Amino acid sequence: MKKFKGIELYLLDMDGTIYLENELIPGAREFIGTLIEKKKQYVFLTNNSSVNKNNYLNKLKGLGIPCGEENIFSSGMATGIFLSKHRKNARVYLVGTKALEEELLAYGVRLVQDDPEIVLVGFDRELNYQKLENACFFLDQGAEFLATNADYLYPLPNGRFLPDCASICWMLTKATGKEPFFIGKPNRYMIDLLREKNGLSPRQVAIIGDRLYTDIACGKNAGIVAALVLSGETKKEDLSVSPHRPDFVFSSVKQIIEEI
Ligand SMILES: [Mg+2]
Repeated sequence: MKKFKGIELYLLDMDGTIYLENELIPGAREFIGTLIEKKKQYVFLTNNSSVNKNNYLNKLKGLGIPCGEENIFSSGMATGIFLSKHRKNARVYLVGTKALEEELLAYGVRLVQDDPEIVLVGFDRELNYQKLENACFFLDQGAEFLATNADYLYPLPNGRFLPDCASICWMLTKATGKEPFFIGKPNRYMIDLLREKNGLSPRQVAIIGDRLYTDIACGKNAGIVAALVLSGETKKEDLSVSPHRPDFVFSSVKQIIEEI
């Protein structure tokens, strides 16, 4: 029997799953083509809160992957929804990029430079000490600590990497003793939003990704089907020592085509 029988919505990680930096993973285009042919829905789910959805649209289109705005969902967008639903009109101090700022403003989030109720940290590639000093002061004054995504590092080519959102948060946690609440993967919030929007049960949704502690953990937290691909960060030997157990393991999305 096909492993993905009954799955209507596919949530797809991008880097390490669909492409590696600027190169498509072999079979990825055919995989998306099969989803379209079988009338399945797909959404690219990304924890990267440093860029906005247009960056992803352009990148995916450039790689020949059919994609519209409705096919992209980032931790920054989820944070915008979270704030507008659960912290309506709250004053938010952002430690994040200009792109994230624009994304949040589009959701009506009230961004301030002074006296915030919330300090929100994203993957800030425009970080500086003034922002850190402000964040420390506001957290110390009692502001709530929220963050877009729980990734510690962001991989770059040639084995290099950057400190991602969780590493920035860790610095603030060490300084203030406060711990953040993370909205992106592995929190189930992004998945729940998409599942409810499409009126689907957990058994009708699958997540496919290359990271155990974000993609797979997120899928398991949300009670959906979670499939690991070994085309990115995770190696086969990492699996046996990880607490996160995928339902299925594939070498890449190419291997999934026959299971749809
Ligand atoms: Mg990935």
